[in-house]
Amino acid sequence: MTKPIDIPGPLGARGHRRRFSGLRRLLHALLLVAGEWVSRLLDLVIGLALLVGLAPLWAARALVSQFQAGTVLTRTPRLGRFRAPFELLGFAGRGPLRTLPVWLNILRGDMAIIGPRPLTPEEGEAVPVRDLARFSVRPGLLSPYRLRSRVGIAHEQESELDRDLVYGQSLRGDLGLAARSLVAVAMGGKAPAEAPPLLNFFGIPVINTTMAEAVGWIIDQAAAGERRTLAFVNPDCLNIAWHNETYKQFLLGADRVLPDGIGIHLGCRMLGTALRENVNGTDLFPRLCEAASQAGLSIYLLGARPGIAEAAANKMHERYPGLLIAGARDGYFSPEEEAGVVAEINASGAAILLVAFGVPRQELWIERWRTDLQPRVCLGVGGLFDFYSGRISRAPVWLREIGFEWVWRLLQEPKRMWRRYIIGNPLFLSRVWQQMRHPERFPLMVQGAAGEPTAPSTRSDRL
Ligand code: UDP
Repeated sequence: MTKPIDIPGPLGARGHRRRFSGLRRLLHALLLVAGEWVSRLLDLVIGLALLVGLAPLWAARALVSQFQAGTVLTRTPRLGRFRAPFELLGFAGRGPLRTLPVWLNILRGDMAIIGPRPLTPEEGEAVPVRDLARFSVRPGLLSPYRLRSRVGIAHEQESELDRDLVYGQSLRGDLGLAARSLVAVAMGGKAPAEAPPLLNFFGIPVINTTMAEAVGWIIDQAAAGERRTLAFVNPDCLNIAWHNETYKQFLLGADRVLPDGIGIHLGCRMLGTALRENVNGTDLFPRLCEAASQAGLSIYLLGARPGIAEAAANKMHERYPGLLIAGARDGYFSPEEEAGVVAEINASGAAILLVAFGVPRQELWIERWRTDLQPRVCLGVGGLFDFYSGRISRAPVWLREIGFEWVWRLLQEPKRMWRRYIIGNPLFLSRVWQQMRHPERFPLMVQGAAGEPTAPSTRSDRL
């Protein structure tokens, strides 16, 4: 039997579909234009409603500004659509609601509710040609970058996320973003200004850094540094460290402990500090693979069920063809086999070892074998390979943007996860509450000259 030939053009086998897709494209273009009008209309309706509905508040705030600063409004130069300059309005003086007059900018059409952040004229000068499309739309109050920054997952460059926003903008997308931003604001409140270099959770120092810096650090150490050990901590890990002294000592002795998850973000808010970024292992892994492939450093994947580490390695190799996978093996072996596994890892010449046995098993294993293990950097990564092999699906981005990734995991494995999340999350927050009330009981333990943790905890009340 001869196969049908697919002739391009209207007479081809897919002719009907093509004509139809032309019509669809036209409809799509019309919808885009209509969507822009509807967005503008929504901006006007919401802006007017806020102006009229909150009129007494506006009046009171204006009076406070006049009283405090001798003037009502501040005007800051910004660049609008097509780079047209405009003045960003704010209430003069100190106190809350200073940014409320931005709604006047929205009503005037200088800005929209959704759009990339308005740039200063200096920032505008520095925008490279490839990002000029950001000026084809009105700058906005809300953007994916701002939303992700709120929950600490803005790991991409702002310009990258702005590009996606500008090219992919739709009414549905805008409404979704507005809804998610509302949830994030309601959950997180206003971010504290202070972002100390070290966060303190129950005396354990956690590095407050960015994803890019963390990846750079691992690469630098793997390329030339001494042997280093890294750990990620989420509320569950810190709950374990609360009563597991061996694991706690491992965290105190690790070269770096990185903050993982929305629980840490909420904990920081309670303690009045700002988390710079949620540097979780799942988001770090592909970035680490990319950087390692560029630096020519090899990675060994150890852990998870048979076949899973290999599948994750293959997926990463497909994504970054230059990536050197030194080896991969499952995490189910007997204590008698351990020395052989270590020898296998050393023989592979891996520069970076990822161990995925779950917390605290992986950390205690690294601790036991650290002096024998030759990879310069060893890190415990939990269920990471399950995600990247595709065995377990990761929560969609919209759920991560509102800090609900844990709900996804709970629904996927309720029997295993309910204790961790339903009991563990409130327990963690109650412990942070204790630390907030009695900070003197949780002094930050830092490494002494001899590598020993100093300032032993005075905490006596264990839950
Ligand atoms: N695992 C393993 N060896 C074991 C026990 C567990 O390799 O003896 C693996 C397991 O297959 C899973 C990971 O360790 O891939 C633990 O995943 P979990 O989601 O519990 O990790 P965490 O939540 O700590 O990130």
